[in-house]
Amino acid sequence: MTTIDTARLVAMFAVIATAMSADRDRLCALDGVIGDADHGIAMELGFSAARDAVAALDAGATDPTTLLNTAAKSFLNAVGASSGPLYATALMRAAAAVKGKTALDDADVIALFQAMAKGIQDRGKAEPGEKTMIDAWVPAAQAAGDVLASGKDLAGSLEAAVQAAKAGAEATKAMVATKGRASRLGERSLGHMDPGAASAVTVIEAMRVALTD
Ligand code: ADP
Ligand code: MG
Repeated sequence: MTTIDTARLVAMFAVIATAMSADRDRLCALDGVIGDADHGIAMELGFSAARDAVAALDAGATDPTTLLNTAAKSFLNAVGASSGPLYATALMRAAAAVKGKTALDDADVIALFQAMAKGIQDRGKAEPGEKTMIDAWVPAAQAAGDVLASGKDLAGSLEAAVQAAKAGAEATKAMVATKGRASRLGERSLGHMDPGAASAVTVIEAMRVALTD
């Protein structure tokens, strides 16, 4: 069983930030088709700010909750786009999910992960099928929980989450956007992957790599 401590979470934000930078142009291009072409920039800015803020903490004297709340605040301050409050809420809920813990076991990490999805859902009020990041996050959270409950370890659970997120992001191509900026396009949003669902796959894959590899 893996144990995730504060230092490992600091490293996780570095891995996510690097992945977001590498994916920035693709995400901006996807957002350019059905939105305003800034999604890659927003995600890179947000996770770079979170990475820097948590790296500045004294990891030895900080618990996961404080670290995740610090990440949430810096993400929100760095991002003006709608992904700002959505991921800030995800990270605040992650913080609350592991309150009082200094080291996280597999179940704690999955609880943290599921809290992120729930936070995005509560903040944005999108339902599955509305062509948003929810279409990647909700099936990913569900799969992670199901696979952990079936007796697999964290690596297996997060791998299942990545696969579910990928399938969910792919499925957004066949959806008409009814939330967010892309909803203005109506039927013209059909055929294109939602950028927020695409970036969710990148975030979740980076979390899998950072927490299990
Ligand atoms: P903006 O639309 O303000 O430019 P971004 O480009 O950063 O923000 O993010 C766009 C993404 O945000 C969309 O692709 C979609 O996945 C997600 N999104 C928009 N509104 C919502 C919502 N209400 N709930 C969940 N996700 C949403
Ligand atoms: Mg945008």
